[in-house]
Amino acid sequence: MVGFGYDVHRLAAGETLVLGGVVLESRLGTVAHSDGDVLVHAIMDALLGALSLGDIGLHFPDTKEEWRGADSISMLKRVHHIIQNEGAHIVNIDSTIVLEAPRLRPHIDAMRARIAEAVGLDIKRVSIKATTSERLGFVGREEGVAAYAIAQVELE
Ligand code: MG
Repeated sequence: MVGFGYDVHRLAAGETLVLGGVVLESRLGTVAHSDGDVLVHAIMDALLGALSLGDIGLHFPDTKEEWRGADSISMLKRVHHIIQNEGAHIVNIDSTIVLEAPRLRPHIDAMRARIAEAVGLDIKRVSIKATTSERLGFVGREEGVAAYAIAQVELE
């Protein structure tokens, strides 16, 4: 089964930018109830979607104090446990981050390692790509960051 995920967060000065569990040096960071890791949020939605288990809003309500400033990698570990409890395992994950700056290429492998470790996958099964929005739209104006993810999950 395949699942798809998408997430957006607003960017603002004085906030931290965390993507794929890696803290990046950036003029702008995400405004969010959690750590605002759009990549990990999109991946969690893809994993939950593959098994028709709803979305992260259902599993981690942002009205809950428990998830304030939450580390998205630990949320991802929770999602992995949910998948395992369903008698399923992750085959692979592919994703794309859309962000104008900073350049993400030097950090991609660190993000892949963080995510692979969190869900017990070989790093080769975790793909992360990055693109800008060619200065177009909200990403192009540096008002936000977006991420798309797809995951294949297999029932045992
Ligand atoms: Mg989010």
